[in-house]
Amino acid sequence: MIDIQKSSKILFPEIKRSGAKIFGVVKIGEMNTASRKPLTLIDLCDMSLPVDLFCFQCEIVRGKHTKHCKLCEKCYYRMDHHCLFLMKCVGHNNHTRFVWFLILTAFVMSMFVLQALLSARHTYPDDTWSVILSNMFWTDCWVLSMVLLNIASVAWASSLIRFQLSVVGRAQTTYFQQKIVTLTPIEQLMNIINFLQGKQFYAKDYEFNESTIMTKPYPVQPSAHTAHVV
Ligand SMILES: [Zn+2]
Ligand SMILES: [Zn+2]
Repeated sequence: MIDIQKSSKILFPEIKRSGAKIFGVVKIGEMNTASRKPLTLIDLCDMSLPVDLFCFQCEIVRGKHTKHCKLCEKCYYRMDHHCLFLMKCVGHNNHTRFVWFLILTAFVMSMFVLQALLSARHTYPDDTWSVILSNMFWTDCWVLSMVLLNIASVAWASSLIRFQLSVVGRAQTTYFQQKIVTLTPIEQLMNIINFLQGKQFYAKDYEFNESTIMTKPYPVQPSAHTAHVV
């Protein structure tokens, strides 16, 4: 029997290293570097950090690249988007698989279109394509419908793949994007190659190198807002 969990760790070594953040779900909030305990709402106020970093549903302090999904009712690290077709969030640890899913789906649909057209050509070897399509319409209309549907789906999937690769090339996600990009085309290409192999990004913009909110230089004003919280 194939051990799916073991196989996925071999194919996507990032998953093995991630530990607590399985499929991007964040269960423990940002840690206080001094006390080594999860930050609380009071800590945010004490350190003059934005209060909206606290997720009232999950009751954790979110990191910079963590977002709460109202449909999943969970916080996700490096959230890309909530996929309404898969009915789950795409984020850290399943983003690579999502892009591979798009690529393989587009490939399979392309193969169907190619196979259907070659089969039609084989069935009517001496006719022109207008006659062939006319014959398919009157005799195999369901095949023609599937061909048209798959052509439209391939076009849509291709635009999605192009967008996703442009985003991961910048080491970002659909939700967490920044307008100014400092990465070179070579660095973006290396990011895409590493991403598709499930490895760490080759390079990141400065803003995306910061993994925790504590590294951001917020002004610290101890206990200035404690009274508003209690
Ligand atoms: Zn949350
Ligand atoms: Zn979701």
